[in-house]
Amino acid sequence: MAIPQTFIQELLNRVDVVDVVGRYVQLKKGGANLMGLCPFHGEKSPSFSVSPTKQFYHCFGCGANGNAIGFLMEHAGMSFVEAVKDLAQQTGLQVPEDDASPQDRERAAQQRQKQVTLNDVLEKSAHAYIKHLKASPRAVSYLKGRGLSGEIAKTFGLGYAPEGWRSLASVFPDYADALLVESGMVIAHEDEKGQDGEAKRYDRFRDRIMFPIRNVKGEYIGFGGRVLDKGEPKYLNSPETPVFSKGRELYGLFEARTAIRVAGYALVTEGYMDVVALAQLGFANAVATLGTACTPDHVQKLFRFTDSVVFSFDGDGAGRRAARKALDAALPLATDTRSVKFLFLPAEHDPDSYIRANGEAAFAQCVKEAVPLSRFLVDAASADCDLSSAEGRARMASQARPLWNALPDGALKRQLITELANGIGIGSADLLQLWQQSGGARAQRPAHREQPASQDPGYDGGSHTQGYGDAQGGGYTPSYNPSSGGSYGDNSGYGKGSYGNKGYSKWRKGPPPPPRMLGSRRSGGSRADRAVGLLLANAEAWDSLSAEDHAMLAHLPAPHGPVFAWLEAQLHEHGPQPWAALREALRGSEHEGFVCAEVEQATMGADSGMELNELADVMDRLRADALEALAALLAARVQQGDTSAYEEYKRVIERIKTLKSAPPV
Ligand SMILES: [Zn+2]
Repeated sequence: MAIPQTFIQELLNRVDVVDVVGRYVQLKKGGANLMGLCPFHGEKSPSFSVSPTKQFYHCFGCGANGNAIGFLMEHAGMSFVEAVKDLAQQTGLQVPEDDASPQDRERAAQQRQKQVTLNDVLEKSAHAYIKHLKASPRAVSYLKGRGLSGEIAKTFGLGYAPEGWRSLASVFPDYADALLVESGMVIAHEDEKGQDGEAKRYDRFRDRIMFPIRNVKGEYIGFGGRVLDKGEPKYLNSPETPVFSKGRELYGLFEARTAIRVAGYALVTEGYMDVVALAQLGFANAVATLGTACTPDHVQKLFRFTDSVVFSFDGDGAGRRAARKALDAALPLATDTRSVKFLFLPAEHDPDSYIRANGEAAFAQCVKEAVPLSRFLVDAASADCDLSSAEGRARMASQARPLWNALPDGALKRQLITELANGIGIGSADLLQLWQQSGGARAQRPAHREQPASQDPGYDGGSHTQGYGDAQGGGYTPSYNPSSGGSYGDNSGYGKGSYGNKGYSKWRKGPPPPPRMLGSRRSGGSRADRAVGLLLANAEAWDSLSAEDHAMLAHLPAPHGPVFAWLEAQLHEHGPQPWAALREALRGSEHEGFVCAEVEQATMGADSGMELNELADVMDRLRADALEALAALLAARVQQGDTSAYEEYKRVIERIKTLKSAPPV
């Protein structure tokens, strides 16, 4: 099952990248484009431009670029399918799902509607808690006592749930509304009936500092609440609801996205207080699990934003146990291009207290020196083993097996077999043989187990139709095959594909490329090359050209002529389309590579007004070229004695003169 390319084209034709990006980045008008602070590299002055005409975004600072789908994948961490579904929903299009019955679709739509309603309830509650915080000197002084500034409190939307059993009744006049219970904000005691015979209801969170939990789209999905003084439980989370699943959500990921890209790694901590405190102290790239052990879903979610994850644990026994669970969660996803490390703080410290005692630089140094996954794996394998005895080494052999098996195949896995075998004191071939014999077929787990056991059920709790081409694997399995009839089976290397094969997935792996300025355009492209780039990037200009121009362009020698003929056919069929949509239509066509390269040369974030001026100039030159060729032809006929050609020759020469004397635009 795949999403047809024509659907993607139609979607990109309908959607507005300005709206999509504008959900996350504040944009201001700057010429024909909109400008904002780049969410991918962190900056103080805007070099991130969004083009409404091309439906592309482009950063002059780091080179990030793409269309609306790419933006949601790269910035919001959505999979390809999630991004397409998200956009389709906004534009009212139905993603073609051959195997979904109308009832299934209806159910999915209802479910999504329910989620939106729950998000609203949670968001309203969050706003009420913020108001209560401002009105509670006790809560404010608690946060100040923890060293948090008002600004950080605002960034994370911290609030306060006041004392009293029904404070939310002032926000939701219908306190009996089932949605309040379903969202987890109100508890209904079925056993205890009030005087009216109804179940007793009261606020779940009372007299607590409130940490709203948002998903990567910024929607409110739950809360964490912490007591101010003594009291139990110290931390209280929202229950599992249709919009909130502890095993899949990370606190602070929405707020940390940009910082994670800038820092080059995500720091996973144990609690939401750590996240907020770390952000205050200069480590805004921290996230936390929500009172649960780290799951493969968590790790996979993080790997959508970065290739490098550092788990930080308190130095106590609980921290050690949590680290071991994180190791298990991370192993299946630890491919050779990813880095996973474990940071153990001294027993008396959490990250907050460590930084306050030793400073930011010391903490940064700890991060640098964190234990790599390979070493932690060997440590875990040999835990409680007396390696000086044969029994202890044998025990290590049996403990090591599930850990090693969980790793995806690759260079790391192959090196580790040697290291483990050395520790155990036998050869690596012997060790492998031993494991095979003692475990039988059952021990042979698939080498490349990218998919966590619990499947990501689509986007943030939405229904997930299996077979869509699961965008698992945390990223960019390049499964798009141009010869497969042009449809997407998967993530399809999508973020990368916006311009030829340069995109910024490559950039994500290493340092950002040097700024690409307009002046650095390749020189030497022909006029026809230039016309291809400019016209495809500004297809609406086609209609302003004359029929003679159209014919002239379509009759240029290959590859240019056929490209213009293709463009004309596209316009007849679909009307004017932004470049983002045309680019989809090109996918898999013979023109794809050439056209994308020319569009990139001609534009890359340039102002479309400037491009239209340049197009006018290029068209003049092409017309002059065509007329000069015609003049030469006519002159030859005149020389051969065809006097009837002479009048026409004179007219053509006159037109060339007019063209050339026209003021340059
Ligand atoms: Zn940038």
